[in-house]
Amino acid sequence: MHKQLTIALVAHDSRKVDMADWAVFNAAVLSQHKLVCTGTTGGLIKNALEEKGYKVDITCMNSGPLGGDAEIAALVVRRKIDLAIFLIDDLSPQPHEADIQMLLRQCRIHNIPIACNRYSADLMITSTLWDNDDYVPLEPRYIPFERK
Ligand code: PGA
Repeated sequence: MHKQLTIALVAHDSRKVDMADWAVFNAAVLSQHKLVCTGTTGGLIKNALEEKGYKVDITCMNSGPLGGDAEIAALVVRRKIDLAIFLIDDLSPQPHEADIQMLLRQCRIHNIPIACNRYSADLMITSTLWDNDDYVPLEPRYIPFERK
């Protein structure tokens, strides 16, 4: 019996088609875990997976610009997220840039794997390291470095 993960999925508008494609491509794996999404991304993923006959456990937060990224960042801080996939629109400014940076920063601080493109997401979702009891992820260390 494998562990069940909670996976956060967020995609900006111009990246939502890619996110839905990615979710369908990985539907068999995703349907074994819990998904937490920003509002619009979650609705699209749910429809895309259900259309293919997959039942998914999916929780939708607020829409990103209305605080969905911030809600997911709070779950990261509370250690309720195991993996995050965040397809960011790097070509247009976002009204909620501060929340986006907060989500990325909290994942880095709390050592939560976060993939920001499909290739990284595929590598992450196909890993079995999270299911290996002998592997303990090391927390980031912030050690002052003195230049000589
Ligand atoms: P959305 O939010 O899924 O509600 O569109 C994503 C975002 O823009 O952060």
